[in-house]
Amino acid sequence: MRHPVQHAEFLVTAAADDQLPPVGPPEIAFAGRSNAGKSSAINALANRTRLAFTSKTPGRTQQINFFRLRGGALLADLPGYGYAAVPHALKRHWQEFLARYLATRQSLVGLVLVVDARHGLAEADAQLLAGYLASGRPVLVLATKVDKFAAAAQRVAQRAIERDIAAAFPVHAAQVTVVAFSATRRIGIERAEQVLAGWLGGPPNEDGGPTPDAAKEKAPRSRGVTRGPKDPRQG
Ligand code: GDP
Repeated sequence: MRHPVQHAEFLVTAAADDQLPPVGPPEIAFAGRSNAGKSSAINALANRTRLAFTSKTPGRTQQINFFRLRGGALLADLPGYGYAAVPHALKRHWQEFLARYLATRQSLVGLVLVVDARHGLAEADAQLLAGYLASGRPVLVLATKVDKFAAAAQRVAQRAIERDIAAAFPVHAAQVTVVAFSATRRIGIERAEQVLAGWLGGPPNEDGGPTPDAAKEKAPRSRGVTRGPKDPRQG
């Protein structure tokens, strides 16, 4: 499965638990703060200009848009969070819907978290991860918009996110793979596709850990790196 997200087709929109598609085929969820670059990342992976059409109108940000991938797997485009203009009650409604979906959805095999590499891991991202990681399932963090950085700074931004995750979730950090990404310059597409294809290629690892490739890649990097006590919620 070389391009797992290509040829994705819109399936259905869900705004409440009873509107979710029946549990069955493996599902990959995409999440991120509003404007992090989630729609652009999905479109870049799908090789389309307008596949993800999550509306930014406040009243419609509580929806999950489902797409069917080649082979029958589903892509769930989760509502962007951290959108200031959303009324409080509505915000709480979809935060709960989203948290419940991530924590309990049986067919969910992995979460793609889109993070603006310039801002790093935000408190809302950490909260989302806290609710999800306990399930033991893997996460692919797309550190996006790295085209705004020179090559060396791209790696620095990626490692900063890795460090924040290791500091905030020491028990679950091995479930997370961080990839430097750019939708506009198509950086990190292949690496992201490898991770997604790994999730869809069969049942997730028994321990929920990353693919063997990702584990191999991360090991040398963590050697000699001081894991600072930095709280990601500060950034
Ligand atoms: P979403 O709200 O998370 O779906 O974010 P969008 O995909 O709509 O992107 C938000 C803004 O960031 C838009 O102005 C995009 O053009 C811009 N953007 C998204 N991805 C990239 C990227 O990889 N590089 C750059 N330079 N800008 C990006």
